[in-house]
Amino acid sequence: VFVSDSGTIKEKYVLELSQAGIAFEAGQHTEALILNAGEIIVSPGIPDKAAIIKAALAAGIPLISEIEFAARYTRATKICITGSNGKTTTTLLTYHMFQKAGLKVGLAGNVGLSLARQVAQNDFDYYVIELSSFQLDKMYQFKAEIAILMNITPDHLDRYQYDFQLYINSKLRVIQNQTSADYFIFCADDPIIQQEIAKRTISSQLLPFTLSASTNPGGWVSNEKINIYTHNSAFDMNIYDLALQGQHNVYNSMAASLSGSVVNIRKSIIRESLADFQGVEHRLEYYLKIHGIQFINDSKATNVNSTWYALESMNAPTIWIAGGIDKGNDYSSLYELVGKKVKALICLGVDNSKLHEAFQDKIDIILDAGSMPDAIKMAYHLGEKGDNVLLSPACASFDLFENYEHRGRMFKQSVREL
Ligand code: ADP
Repeated sequence: VFVSDSGTIKEKYVLELSQAGIAFEAGQHTEALILNAGEIIVSPGIPDKAAIIKAALAAGIPLISEIEFAARYTRATKICITGSNGKTTTTLLTYHMFQKAGLKVGLAGNVGLSLARQVAQNDFDYYVIELSSFQLDKMYQFKAEIAILMNITPDHLDRYQYDFQLYINSKLRVIQNQTSADYFIFCADDPIIQQEIAKRTISSQLLPFTLSASTNPGGWVSNEKINIYTHNSAFDMNIYDLALQGQHNVYNSMAASLSGSVVNIRKSIIRESLADFQGVEHRLEYYLKIHGIQFINDSKATNVNSTWYALESMNAPTIWIAGGIDKGNDYSSLYELVGKKVKALICLGVDNSKLHEAFQDKIDIILDAGSMPDAIKMAYHLGEKGDNVLLSPACASFDLFENYEHRGRMFKQSVREL
């Protein structure tokens, strides 16, 4: 094993690598050493256009993701969650449910610990795994016993040659290698998913979820209740009893319940988990109310679709803080909601021209802020009792912040300092 990181390696990992007797380098990629490998496990953050990856591809060395590697060494049931939005929420909700049911379960992928570490050190029967398209791109033999696909909307197109179909194909890899013994849980209201299912021959058992009424196996909503119906379970639950509110969270709750149902978790435990789940930081987090103005941190909304759901769930006049690094955004899907709900837009990014262009005829007040404290002060100034101030950027954060967590923490800090 040889570890190569072009950045720095944290002290605690240096120590761990040294203690395990694993050779490593930091601050560079030594081609001669890397291209000597029989197989390379690539971090999902490294794009195919990176020089070292190009060289490895040219040399014909297999490139795989950590999940592909680790899965070779476990027989556990893997519940794999992907989609453009709602992955982390659904993953953590599912994990919470499995834990509450007393199952031996690990949390891996984009959240939790690495799958490889857990496979090496633990003896779990189940893994709940959040998968990004970048991980899926480098998975080949892997099979999810339960695959969950939340939605597909344009995102990360910069890594897919601005070709939406390539990104779609990557998401659909979550069902590769599935057989009739496996399950595919997906959102039936998503036109792209529907279109892809129509195109493919899928061997696994389909469990769609939808906000429309239905009576087929799967999940659906009727009379303000979610209904869950699988081969071994049927139950309903009032949507107002769900811990996570908002239309998008009805989807997330149905997806998690279906996977719980498939592995025979009792209805009472599924209901309890959906009711007492604690939510996830930076996702529509109702933070503080100051002089009657509600501040909401949705820093994790890094694409247009997740912002759509945030705006959709607003039930008061909203001052919207958006902007950052645009990943090829088309804002037109927000026009209707913005017209109904947004009284002012505060642009928080280095280059706000695209936001101005998109919304100049749609919103009366559009301001530019150079920093989070400025944005919060402007919002507070514009706000009246009963208003919402919503940070839901629809963009990546790297122009002004380290990452979306940093942006969310700065939001909360600036609100506290008002
Ligand atoms: P991901 O891990 O896929 O980025 P998260 O669970 O972290 O998703 O949620 C990111 C943002 O997407 C949230 O702030 C929320 O506004 C929005 N969101 C959550 N679930 C959904 C969903 N099912 N459909 C659309 N948007 C969602």
